Amino acid sequence: MTTTDALTNQQLLTKRPDLRTPADYLKRYYGYDVFRPMQEDIINSIVGGRDTVVLMPTGGGKSVCFQIPALMLPGVTIVVSPLIALMKDQVGALHMNGIPSAFYNSTQTGREQRAIEDDCISGKLKLLYVSPEKLLTESFFTFLKHITVSLFAIDEAHCISSWGHDFRPEYTQLHVLKQQFPQVPTIALTATADKLTRQDIATRLGMNDPAIFISSFNRKNLSLQVLPGQNRIQQIIRLLQQKPDTSGIIYCLSRKSTESLAAKLQEKGFNAAFYHARMDPADRARTQEAFLRDDVKIMCATIAFGMGIDKSNVRWVIHYNMPKNIEGFYQEIGRAGRDGAAAQTVLFYSFADVATYKEMLAENNPANLGLQLAKLERMQQYADAHTCRRQILLSYFSEELPEPCGNCDVCRDPRITFDGTVLAQKALSAMVRSGERVPMNLLIDILRGSRSQAVLQGGYDQIKTYGAGRDIRFEDWRNYIHQLINIGVIEIGYDQHYALRRGILADQVLKGTRRIDLVKPDDAPKLVVEKKVRPEVNRNDLFERLRVLRKQLADEQNVPPYVIFTDTTLEDMARQRPTTPDALRNVSGVGERKLQLFGRKFLDVILGYTGGPASPGSVSKPAEKNKVPTQQQTLDLYNRGMSIDEIAAERQLTTGSIASHLVQLAKAGQDVDLEEILASFVSPTERRAIERAIEMVGVPEGRLKGVFDQLGGQYDYGKITIVAGLYNG
Ligand code: ADP
Ligand code: ZN
Repeated sequence: MTTTDALTNQQLLTKRPDLRTPADYLKRYYGYDVFRPMQEDIINSIVGGRDTVVLMPTGGGKSVCFQIPALMLPGVTIVVSPLIALMKDQVGALHMNGIPSAFYNSTQTGREQRAIEDDCISGKLKLLYVSPEKLLTESFFTFLKHITVSLFAIDEAHCISSWGHDFRPEYTQLHVLKQQFPQVPTIALTATADKLTRQDIATRLGMNDPAIFISSFNRKNLSLQVLPGQNRIQQIIRLLQQKPDTSGIIYCLSRKSTESLAAKLQEKGFNAAFYHARMDPADRARTQEAFLRDDVKIMCATIAFGMGIDKSNVRWVIHYNMPKNIEGFYQEIGRAGRDGAAAQTVLFYSFADVATYKEMLAENNPANLGLQLAKLERMQQYADAHTCRRQILLSYFSEELPEPCGNCDVCRDPRITFDGTVLAQKALSAMVRSGERVPMNLLIDILRGSRSQAVLQGGYDQIKTYGAGRDIRFEDWRNYIHQLINIGVIEIGYDQHYALRRGILADQVLKGTRRIDLVKPDDAPKLVVEKKVRPEVNRNDLFERLRVLRKQLADEQNVPPYVIFTDTTLEDMARQRPTTPDALRNVSGVGERKLQLFGRKFLDVILGYTGGPASPGSVSKPAEKNKVPTQQQTLDLYNRGMSIDEIAAERQLTTGSIASHLVQLAKAGQDVDLEEILASFVSPTERRAIERAIEMVGVPEGRLKGVFDQLGGQYDYGKITIVAGLYNG
């Protein structure tokens, strides 16, 4: 970033917040006005010197809980994090916020490491990220003894517990930190909620009467939806067509299906890729990077994808297959909407997935088979539910949601169920009596008493239940049978030409010991996916332009776009339309550092969109195509023979803006005669004076402020702009 693009200190001087309270730090470094629930209490606990355990869902905002204390306390905060790849991204994001930080690992040269150590000793760095392996080496400990450690932050702290799903033996050694540095507070953070792990963390770290913060696991911005697993690809395509240009993940059970799904989507013109553990590591890294950078929008992946991905603008997560348990499901959908903006999650549910897992489990026969089956069943109950899905999810994490959520498919579109036991018995009986050999359509024909060739040929008109369901329409039968398949009453014999056969619940239903609730076809989950996920349309034209600029800057800076600004920040910007640096400060997520680095460019796009005055003396704007509408208006007036002054008056813009439009239009090949304009607008003496000034101070990146100043402010920007537009010195 060249200094000319950045806002100068002069322009930034006003209203810079003082740094006294945690909230001041939040505003200055992150650009947020208010803390999320618990963040401030956690920070105060740490700053007060108390050991602290934090349980917060993904996207809850754990980072600021230790980063702000790191900024407030004297010395360096040591952050222990298990994923080296993630450290680099986190440090990159900290730099963008103007927070001095580094990571320390074995890929660095001795010299690089010494430079980092020096920066710690001299107090330059506020945060140092390190892997547990590195931290526990003797040399690193010696180094730690030489510096002031303000805080130990243990990220992904569930890795310490063998109860957790991600146990890492190195983590168990971390208790030596307390022995060696008893006076340094420790904060442990995790998104894993179960009770056993929770207790384990504090004990195993040797914490001293820790403060424990458990925040709600309710992610209100995630909508929840379950759709029947038939015609998944068509449903996905329809869904994606409603979400052009958004990033999302489609989780599949098998490596093969990630590949075939990605291929099918590509065929339809979608920007999709696949990711799984068997890929060549270099390909895998490249694919992941492309997704982070918004170069690939749709990732078809196994659950290998996502660990250590911090991307905040994932707008939807689709489960092509049902996950094995609710923990996994919640973690995977949790990758959507980390920025707090609305995000959609869809689970495709078919009983076949349950059957596959059961087979896999039976084959592997793990020690905790019973537990795994029970967890699978809870997952299935979620998928089958006719009550608020969020209440089910949260109850799983021992959290009560008193009212239905209003943001799941069941809440939005309440189902009316009826006792479908007799109906299920009819279908089962016809199925059994025809020898469990007939596929769905034929079974329905039998139930409806059809005289089709297949029915008569098979002699099915002779069985007792022939015609027992003629009062129900063919389409409705299909729907009911799908429901019966989804809940495990009926099974499809994929290996037997799709013949329907008894599912695991079939015998209970036939015996009359199991009641089956069904949903009327009109109430059943619709194939058509929700039309509008967002309560208000924030994704307008301006948002799109800001997004284009963000992508351009991200590529220039070699970082993922969300590191520049999150989607929520762009939405807020599009809503508020700030036109001055001070107004831009009011946008959520614009801290001082980013304001300085990127403020000017975003303001230019907004000004171009609103048709407000161009920034002083700017000729070439970053987002060329964003200027079209306002330039078009100027062009129309110019074509009607109006002068610069007249156009400026008509459009209530400065002559500088109009002149800059005309220069741009001429450069874009429009029929605009700059020489003619110049002749009628600038005298030959004025032209020479301006040209001399340009020769002396130049026009760095098209900015004319220097020329304007050189001329002592005597010439207006309109004149300078036109002369500069024609100047090829
Ligand atoms: P976690 O580590 O818990 O998954 P992060 O710390 O990455 O979550 O935060 C998730 C997102 O929320 C980030 O984009 C972060 O900038 C944003 N965020 C954190 N605190 C706040 C806040 N007080 N107001 C608005 N956004 C916040
Ligand atoms: Zn609900």
